[in-house]
Amino acid sequence: MKREIRDEYYLLTEKLEEIQLGLEGKCNDIDCDKYIYKDLLKKKYKPVLKHNFSCIDSLKREKVAVLRLLSQKRFKKYRYTKCNVCKNMLDRLGNKSTIVSFTKPAKRNKGYHEWKGIWTHKKCQSKVKITKGWDKF
Ligand SMILES: [Zn+2]
Ligand SMILES: [Zn+2]
Repeated sequence: MKREIRDEYYLLTEKLEEIQLGLEGKCNDIDCDKYIYKDLLKKKYKPVLKHNFSCIDSLKREKVAVLRLLSQKRFKKYRYTKCNVCKNMLDRLGNKSTIVSFTKPAKRNKGYHEWKGIWTHKKCQSKVKITKGWDKF
């Protein structure tokens, strides 16, 4: 049961990202002039719909619907965490939150880097302490 809730959460957040990209002008609709992969299909494929007229409204509606689903109680555990700096609650899907990335050279594989991300509020971002041995990315 737990696993299902987690999978559902990640499915919905992926959907949300897709919608967000669409709203930013990288559409996932193959018939749209802003279709994200149209370069790959250049020769045999001509987009027909104008993104602004055909997609934006439905993307906005979808976003509201997905966000409503994601605000269900059972997703709370996945959606919210504590800010690494101020220790207050943080909404991973909110636009006040961000991930600060760190890297360090991997011990086992030369030439590779390990990565870790720390959730903080954007306003707390500059106060993230760098763990010894890691560099801010
Ligand atoms: Zn579109
Ligand atoms: Zn904070």
